Amino acid sequence: MNQVYIGLGSNLGQSAKQIQAACHSLASLSETKLIRCSSLYQSLPMGPQDQPNYVNAVVLIETELSPENLLQQTQQIESQHGRVRKSNRWGPRTLDLDILLYGQQQLDKEQLTIPHIGMKQREFVLYPLFEIAPELILPCGEKLSDLVLTCPINGLQIMSD
Ligand code: ATP
Ligand code: MG
Ligand code: MG
Repeated sequence: MNQVYIGLGSNLGQSAKQIQAACHSLASLSETKLIRCSSLYQSLPMGPQDQPNYVNAVVLIETELSPENLLQQTQQIESQHGRVRKSNRWGPRTLDLDILLYGQQQLDKEQLTIPHIGMKQREFVLYPLFEIAPELILPCGEKLSDLVLTCPINGLQIMSD
């Protein structure tokens, strides 16, 4: 079993519901178990500022799917949740599923980079990840707790139910 962390984000439609529904979709993937979910967080948009705030979360799954197969599956879930791929990077979307970590594996392929690029600088990844995995050490050897300490919170807020 591979322990895989996935970052979820949404800023179009009913974002909190999209994130919760996406968790169910991940839980029902073959050869996969949903182990832990963070709280939902509200974050400020990255890149273009003329878009709504985001809802984010991080989940831990255990899976036998390969990284490539998992990416295919997560992209299918994005489409099922109304994601339309546009050329503009970091634009608004109903659902974004990013594979943050896949065990201790490091991968650098055209379609798939693991650990996810940018995760070490993103408050909306690091804080939810820390909530569910406070002892985590990244494949590069850095402690998640150290990364959190140096990452500005940038308006990130935990959402009440
Ligand atoms: P960012 O990746 O900076 O968060 P984004 O999530 O908005 O931006 P997407 O449009 O969702 O970007 O994905 C663009 C491409 O990133 C995908 O087609 C996918 O092949 C590639 N990609 C590379 N590494 C990963 C990863 N670890 N998880 C998900 N997608 C990845
Ligand atoms: Mg993303
Ligand atoms: Mg993405």
